[in-house]
Parts: sequence; structure tokens; C-alpha cells
Amino acid sequence: MRRILVPPRLSEQLPAPGSHIERFAGTTMGTSWSVQVLARRGQIDPTLETGIIARLDKVVAEMSHWLPSSDLSRFNRANAGSWHCLPPNLYKVLACAARIAKSSGGAFDPYAGALVNLWGFGPVNRYDEPHFAPPTAAAASAARDNISANRVRLDSVTRSAWQPGDIHIDLSAIAKGFAVDQVADYLLACDRPHFLVEVGGELRGEGMKPDHQPWWVELEGPPGVATEPTAVALHGLSVATSGDYRRSYQLERMHLAHTIDPRSGRPIDNGVASVTVIHPECMYADAYSTALTVLGHVEGMAYAELEGVAARFLVHDGGGVREYISSHFEDLLG
Ligand code: AMP
Ligand code: MG
Repeated sequence: MRRILVPPRLSEQLPAPGSHIERFAGTTMGTSWSVQVLARRGQIDPTLETGIIARLDKVVAEMSHWLPSSDLSRFNRANAGSWHCLPPNLYKVLACAARIAKSSGGAFDPYAGALVNLWGFGPVNRYDEPHFAPPTAAAASAARDNISANRVRLDSVTRSAWQPGDIHIDLSAIAKGFAVDQVADYLLACDRPHFLVEVGGELRGEGMKPDHQPWWVELEGPPGVATEPTAVALHGLSVATSGDYRRSYQLERMHLAHTIDPRSGRPIDNGVASVTVIHPECMYADAYSTALTVLGHVEGMAYAELEGVAARFLVHDGGGVREYISSHFEDLLG
């Protein structure tokens, strides 16, 4: 059977008669992006695409730890005990990540970049390079202890962050979602209220298509595994999925995923195949989907209920997956 998820509120704003869809696409953050946006009849805006690209480039220039010149990379290299005033968007994303780190009991942790790097998922010492070796148990524990003992401090008044020394911030679990929101805000500011924006599989839809249908999106699941087909109407909603299948490698019959549990210092090993989160803001959908992937379906379900998050967990079960949904997800099922 096919299930559908529908938003709690419908916007009154209908597309103008004769509207058509404009499509743009490209690459950013090591992945692809795409935008479908409605244009009114005769509406020509030659700067729209460059405006979208400028928004995406700005997120990279501030938040990518892959780009040595980014504000984030400069913070990561900074001397121990130094304060750094951050650009407003970087501060906003970091503060949101820090809040979710706290509420998730450290399952989500933007300060765990050193662990991500050790396990081969950072910009250097990559798992797919010829001489890569995963860390010893002692090295992973030492990195974990260093991360939990030396926390970055944030000052919201001056929008500054304090580098305790050798702490590497990694915003990969939240920045794609934020980039989607940035493009969405730009399109809204350009008086384009009907669109579907996607960066690396994280999506946000507003308004509707020329035929007054919402932007229907199929929920993602692990490849080759049968799941109940489920479509969501992205009308004032975002959807993000984290999964153990997205980037991973095999080590002595162990499957090592790019999602790290900062509490153990190791890649997750909780049976979660994927977690999908639906939220009005893509930044939150992205961050929560990673947090819940680390927490697993038992602890994660309690957290999702506490935070009011609409989440679907797919957990490995034999050759297939078992589904667990939060009450807010259930509320969206039409
Ligand atoms: P996502 O695909 O949104 O779940 O993000 C995964 C990426 O976030 C990984 O490739 C790492 O760079 C980073 N990451 C891994 N584990 C965590 C974690 N526990 N908390 C925050 N970021 C993480
Ligand atoms: Mg994420």
C-alpha cells in the first residue's frame, strides 16, 4: 500500500494562471543541488540562478571544513584559548548544532570532527585512500575523551566562539539543510513562493506546482530493501534522511558508517539503516536525522517525542528493515 504524508496547514497562495516551472541544478558541498521554481507568465529574471549559486557558495565559504580558506577551517586551525567573531550565519548554525548536541546527550556533536577524520570520513586520511588505516581502540578513545573534555564556548552577544585547542568543528550533518533554507529564503525574498529546493538529497518545498498539486517527494530508504512506499507533500515542509548506506566501508566484516557515535568514539553499531525527519526548517530536519541515527530507535524515539520531531526509523531486521515512527510522523499520515 502507498502512504501519503500531508502538512498540517495549507497556504492560501495559489500560483498565477499560466505559471511554469524553471529548473536549475549544479554541484556544491561535494554533492548535487537542484531547484524547481515557478515563474509567472512572461517573468524573466536572469539573475535568479546566480543568486541561488551565491547563496550556496556563501554557505561553503563560511561552513566547509573541506575548504582551507573557510571561516570554519580558520577556526579549526586557531590557537588554543582564542576567541573568534563568526559571520552571523555560521554562528547561527553552530549555536543550533550546539543546542542539539546538548539535548541529544552528545549523540549529535559538531565538535567531533577529529573522530570523523580518524575514521576516514574527513578531508584528510580518507578511508578510500590506499594507505588508510582505521584508528586503534586507544586512539579512538583518546580522541573521544579530548572532545568531551575540551568544549568550544559560544558567546551569543558577540557571536564569538572560543577554540579550546585542537577541536575540529564539522558541520556536515547540518550545513546541507541550512543551505537548502538559505536558497528557500532567497527565493521567497525574490517573490517566488512556489519551489522545491534540494541539496544532496535534503529537500524543502513551499507553495505548489502550476497544477496546484504540492511537491510530492518519495521518502528515501536503503537501496535494494523493500519499504512501504511513502510520499510526502512538501508544502511548507522539509525532509532529510541520514543513513548508514550513504558513505561507509567494510573492515574485517564490519560495516563502518560515516555516522560516528561521539559517546563511544566509534561508527554507529545500533542497527539503524536510516532515519528520515520532516520539519518546517531543513536545518533542523538535517541535524535531527543525524542525531536520531546515532541514538537508535529506542533512545531516539524517546528523544523525538521529547523534541516533537516527526521521524521514521528504518532498522535492519534480517535481510529487510523494520519501521518505527514517532507520533508527530504519524500525525502527518493522511
Ligand atoms: P548526515 O549525512 O547529515 O547524517 O551527516 C553525516 C556527516 O556528519 C558525516 O559525514 C560527518 O562528517 C558528520 N558526523 C558524523 N557523525 C556525527 C555526529 N554524531 N554528530 C554530528 N556530525 C556527525
Ligand atoms: Mg544530517
